[in-house]
Amino acid sequence: MNVRAQISSVFHLDKCIGCHTCSVACKNQWTDRRGVEYAWWNDVETKPGAGYPVLWEDQEKYRGGWTVEGGRPALRQGGPGATLARLFHNPALPVLKDYYEPFTYRYQDLFDAPAGDDQPTARPISLLDGRPIDIESGPNWDDDLGGSPVYAAQDPGLARLTAAEREQLFEVERLAFFYLPRICNHCLNPACVAACPSGAIYKRGEDGVVLVSQDKCRSWRMCISACPYKKVYYNWSTGKSEKCILCYPRLEVGEAPACFHTCVGRIRYLGVLLYDADRLAAAASRPDAELVEAQREVLLDPADPAVAAEARASGVSEQVLEAARRSPVWRFVKEWGLALPLHAEWRTLPMLFYVPPLLPALAGPAEGDGGFFTSLERARLPLRYLAGLFGAGNTEVVEAAYRKLIAVRLHRRAAQVGDLPPAAAAGALAAAGL
Ligand code: SF4
Ligand code: SF4
Repeated sequence: MNVRAQISSVFHLDKCIGCHTCSVACKNQWTDRRGVEYAWWNDVETKPGAGYPVLWEDQEKYRGGWTVEGGRPALRQGGPGATLARLFHNPALPVLKDYYEPFTYRYQDLFDAPAGDDQPTARPISLLDGRPIDIESGPNWDDDLGGSPVYAAQDPGLARLTAAEREQLFEVERLAFFYLPRICNHCLNPACVAACPSGAIYKRGEDGVVLVSQDKCRSWRMCISACPYKKVYYNWSTGKSEKCILCYPRLEVGEAPACFHTCVGRIRYLGVLLYDADRLAAAASRPDAELVEAQREVLLDPADPAVAAEARASGVSEQVLEAARRSPVWRFVKEWGLALPLHAEWRTLPMLFYVPPLLPALAGPAEGDGGFFTSLERARLPLRYLAGLFGAGNTEVVEAAYRKLIAVRLHRRAAQVGDLPPAAAAGALAAAGL
């Protein structure tokens, strides 16, 4: 056993209201600088939807980035660092348009427009150079699946669905969406670290935070192509890659990261996990359907005296051990099995877990038997779609989490509101194995 400590988090998606307070807190603190105007280390996406950078889940999109110019291969379009990217033959980079160019409005148009039949409109202009731009996507562009006709319907997760399910998804009466806040996952098996030719990206020994050494970075940007979550950004002004640092200067003085601290919905939980570093390679090699379970298996019980002894021998401090014992992340992920990794099939062993959103998936208790999910077709978001996000395609894993979430909700409702027959709650609890 090779025990290490990892700072990790849970985002409870039913509580996210998509307000972007987290994004703004992060932007103000870390990316309000020249060269990273376009970067959102924390972003909040609407699902189903295209996300940021656009269609980031499509693992082919940023690999198919070549076109031919004058008989020579070239990137599809310009953007931050396109020339250097060509030089290094790195074909998999998103470009500025994929991140949506930061924009403002030319408000003067409202005053200068000639009189006409319509109200004048302020044109969007680039925040970088004032050019008028056409906007095709942006934060929460897909809220009603109609806002981004170019991209939303291309959400790769929709490909898992049958034609009938896809059609239902776009019926006005059944429209459902939820918010997916994303930061770097500070993975246990980080693709960004593995890809860096300069050894500039590393995982801090004491807490597993993944950082880019600004001194060592040589602009290869292999980290940007390698990270399947597209959570490394290129600073076109400094020529270095940057990413979420989990506000480590705040962590070091006992404060939560800015996005956690400011979260209006209180959806974010921070905690320490202990894991067995010797088991990572085996876990990451398991078949897709077993990956969520494999990821749980590398986590170690902080209350186990043998684990604690090994942890101490590996240099884990008493303070960190105590934090691991009190960790809400351990409870959500391991004890309760409610929080699941995003796209575990990419095998980076992400250390940000999500409690999947109940509301858009909720199926009511069936008449008579007190059960639920007996009428899966009534769920507005098909489980197959949610399993594509949170179960590495394994519907059973996601359904097990939903069974518990629904059982607890029915139980509380029967106890507090009293409008459900006790059999409904009892049946739900039994079906969830609680
Ligand atoms: Fe690296 Fe991406 Fe994982 Fe963050 S999410 S640690 S950038 S591979
Ligand atoms: Fe969601 Fe919290 Fe961010 Fe608001 S601040 S968008 S509730 S994660």
